[in-house]
Parts: sequence; structure tokens; C-alpha cells
Amino acid sequence: MMASSSLEDNTTLRILRAADKGNYGVLAAVGYNLEQILGFVRAAERKRSPLIIQLFPWAIAHSDGVLVHAAAQAARQASVPVAVHLDHCQDEAMVRRACELPFDSVMVDMSHHSKEDNLRKTRELVAYCHERGKAAEAEPGRIEGGEDGVSDTLDLEGLMTTMEEARGFVDAGVDLLAPAFGNVHGEYGPRGIVLDFERLKQVHEITSASNVLIALHGVTGFSEELLRQLIEAGVRKINVNKDILMGYYAVLEQRINKAPFTQVVDEAIEQVAEALARQMDAVGSSGKAY
Ligand SMILES: [Zn+2]
Repeated sequence: MMASSSLEDNTTLRILRAADKGNYGVLAAVGYNLEQILGFVRAAERKRSPLIIQLFPWAIAHSDGVLVHAAAQAARQASVPVAVHLDHCQDEAMVRRACELPFDSVMVDMSHHSKEDNLRKTRELVAYCHERGKAAEAEPGRIEGGEDGVSDTLDLEGLMTTMEEARGFVDAGVDLLAPAFGNVHGEYGPRGIVLDFERLKQVHEITSASNVLIALHGVTGFSEELLRQLIEAGVRKINVNKDILMGYYAVLEQRINKAPFTQVVDEAIEQVAEALARQMDAVGSSGKAY
């Protein structure tokens, strides 16, 4: 299925297609407030790297959309390509609301439904997004675990993505596919990180034939070497959350009420920028701003 012409200039897709040509990854950094977003953009400009800012539906709800506008403005003002993406949108009404906000792309996450409903709802909502110029990501199977801001999936079992599901989602018109191949949201348990690279390779064969890009969820604690192997296997959008925000929270914890608040905020933003900049080097996006 061809994407509508309004997606030609879609910032998320332009950033990720350039990464696909250049064989590197692009970070999709989850931010919960303005300071974190400012830190992300500072890192991107410092490293001359493309960037995707990610928000959860929580950020829309609690700020009544204001944080989305702030992120979009920060993206527009940046001297490097920056897109704004909505991660894990699990509610159909929220997908429609997101389409009225300045997102470049939306993850239509219906993975908490049965396989059949996941595919059917995804197909409908992807079409809805495309009609409004938004690129769409979806999750065939189910990635295990939860992260701060994603609700009601913690008690559901993970389901590895099958090739049949991957084909179905590509046919449904998704631009970005988030496969489940052993990756886990949040902390990896005592078993450690066990990824099914063979499954990822097969998914990539299906997606690359249709110009669909692979998004990777659940990279907490991954080494640079593992990230390199995943990028080599075709992963392009790499979601990061906890690893890049721990320093921010540590600054607040250690410095609040011990220094002027303005200074604490500045130090916290710089922590975020430094953490993200290191990851940009790791995924190879540094210096790749077009
Ligand atoms: Zn995720």
C-alpha cells in the first residue's frame, strides 16, 4: 500500500529513511517535561544529529496538549532535523486527538487487544493518521513489560511477533513496525537480555521489501555493541527512556533546595543533553544531520 502524498515530507520518515540509507540508528527519546525536551534538542544540535522527541499520551492529557506544542516548537527552532512522535497510543479516541496536534508520527498501539482486533484496529487507525499527514507505527505481537506513562499492559504476557503478523501489518499500511523478539520494556529480569536475532532478521526481510522501518522498544541496559548489532540487523528508530533520564533525576534529588532552582534546572538539562549525546555517538547518528 502506498503512503499518501502528504507523507512525502513527513519529518519522522525523512529522518528514518536517511538513517536507512546510511545504516545508522536514530534515537527516539521519551520526555516527560519541557526541560527534558530542551536537553534532547541541545544534544542533537551539539552532535549535529537527527532526533525524534517522544511523548506518551499522558503528556497530552496532563498538559491539555500544551507540551506537544512546546515540543513541536522546539523541533521547528532546532538547527537539525527533529520530529515529534506519540509513543504507545493505546486508546482509539486519543489517536484521533493526536492527529489534531503537531505530531509528525503516532504509534497506534492496539497490542493489548487480541491478534485479530490488533490488526483490524491498526488498519483503520493507520488510514486515519495517513489522511492527516501523520506517519504511523504499530506493534504486531506484544512487547513485554511496562514503562512510566504506558498503562494497563503490565499484567499481559508478551507475544513474539510472527511473520504472518509482520506481513499483515505491512499490508495494513504501517510506516514503522515495532517487533517483539525478546525485547522487554523496563528492566530485564534475572534471565538477562535474550533476543531472537533470527526473528528480527526475518521481520526485516519483510519490512525492507515494502520500505517499512523497524522501531526498537526496550533497550534499557543495552551495551553499545548490542545496539550496533541491532542497527546492523535493520533497526532504525531506537526508543530510549530510563537510561537517558537517570542523570536528570539524580540532579534534582541531589541539588534541589541546595542551589537556586534556576541553576538546578540548568544543570539537569545539561545532564540530559550529555546522556543523549553519548547515545547518539553509540547509534551512529552524530554528524548525520542533513
Ligand atoms: Zn515501547
